[in-house]
Amino acid sequence: METNERELNYPKLPPGQYTLEVMARNARGQWSAEPARISFQILTPWWLMWWFRIASVLVALGIGRLMWQRRTYRLEAERHHLETAVNQRTRDLSIEKQRVLEEQARTEQQKREIERLLEEAQQASRFKSEFLANMSHEIRTPMNGILGMTDLVLATPLTAEQREHLLTARLSANSLLALLNDILDFSKIEAGRLDLSPVEFSLRQCVDETARMLAFAADEKNLKLEIRVSDEVPDRIVGDPHRLRQILMNLLGNSIKFTAAGKVELTVSLEAGQGASVTLHFTVHDTGIGIPADKQKLIFEAFRQADGSTTRKYGGTGLGLAICSRLVEMMGGAIRVESESGRGSTFRFTARFRTAAEEARPTDAGSLQRLVQAANILPPAQAGLRVLLAEDTPVNQRLVTRLLEKRGHRVAVAATGREALEWLDREPFDIILMDVQMPDMDGLEATAAIREREKKSGGHTPIVALTARTASGDRERCLAAGMDNYINKPVEGARLLALVETVTAARPAR
Ligand code: ADP
Repeated sequence: METNERELNYPKLPPGQYTLEVMARNARGQWSAEPARISFQILTPWWLMWWFRIASVLVALGIGRLMWQRRTYRLEAERHHLETAVNQRTRDLSIEKQRVLEEQARTEQQKREIERLLEEAQQASRFKSEFLANMSHEIRTPMNGILGMTDLVLATPLTAEQREHLLTARLSANSLLALLNDILDFSKIEAGRLDLSPVEFSLRQCVDETARMLAFAADEKNLKLEIRVSDEVPDRIVGDPHRLRQILMNLLGNSIKFTAAGKVELTVSLEAGQGASVTLHFTVHDTGIGIPADKQKLIFEAFRQADGSTTRKYGGTGLGLAICSRLVEMMGGAIRVESESGRGSTFRFTARFRTAAEEARPTDAGSLQRLVQAANILPPAQAGLRVLLAEDTPVNQRLVTRLLEKRGHRVAVAATGREALEWLDREPFDIILMDVQMPDMDGLEATAAIREREKKSGGHTPIVALTARTASGDRERCLAAGMDNYINKPVEGARLLALVETVTAARPAR
């Protein structure tokens, strides 16, 4: 037991074979002769055994392999998962692509369908406006007869009752014509077929003619009609005088219509621009019934009137201002109104024009700029102008001849362009009124021939076209053929006289 306990004091002995020798001494101090020997062995612990090491390495390798396999498995699973996701996404994308393609095809088809419908609508609109243009031509020609003949009968001795009936007939015919013109213009604007025809013209002459045409209406109501064109406004400008006159007629006509007493005033001033183009500012002011604030926007819409009852009282279609505002837009300007119920209205609009390259012959600027008053707006006729009328319709021949003769002019009538040339061979004329459509030689050919002759002989006889056609391009053709001006049929007496007298007055003296 003691030995064992002592052995325990050497626990760190490495494995191996050992011999413990023990020498003892007795009480007398004598040592034993021989040491007592005990051999023993310290065994190698199992964890240091070779087989354990190999086993450990094998186990470690096994674990490593297992971990590697697990990782590979996890990566494989992840790859598989990703592949599935990618496949799914690819499928989704291809479905999406298919859907987009189908959508595109549908859109394409819808687009083609819309284009077809649009084309059909445009075609229909073209037919409509052609139909309207033709109809208006067909209606205008007999209207010419009705209006003209009524005027002629009105100029003869009549009983009061006959006169009243005829005046009513003339009023109705005039309203019908105005309505026809408005509907035609509006449908053309709607169909995008109304073109401006820019030509060089005299602004003051245009304004003056407009005032002359409205002078009678203003005079009948005892209204003062004042026209002012500022000195800085250039006179020769390039634009569409016919459409400008139409806007002014409309605004001034409305002002006269809706004003019971006081005055109607038109002023023209320079808004902006110098050199190649100018913006002019037109103001039409009246002292009439005014327009309530909440109606001021509406009146520029088609078929709208400030007050439904005005149709009964004043007539009108509600198209005039809609047409004006579109025309003003086409002229690069804007229109607006300032008004107060019962206190009159002021319509203002701007329009852009090019200035003519050079100032042409001066017009009668003094007389054009003067204050034009209703009472004396149609000045006494220039004595006895010699007028050549080329016109094939007998009704129109009679009508225009009587009108001019009553005013003190002398009229020669030709039924074809060729006859007109024959008249010119015989004697000179102050002005030629030329129908466009005539048998044998039409107005355009005759005009070209006259201008050709004038190149050799010198001189320039003003030629005014009488045309029932309103198709765009007609006016340009007349002007291109060498005509100086044009007037639409049915001819309004006052307008024709104003035009004849203004055109001849603007000519340099012979
Ligand atoms: P129309 O005069 O043919 O009815 P317009 O488009 O020219 O059509 O005018 C539309 C409406 O605007 C008129 O009916 C009228 O109510 C109002 N209006 C236009 N000008 C004036 C004005 N100067 N004074 C009062 N009201 C006006």
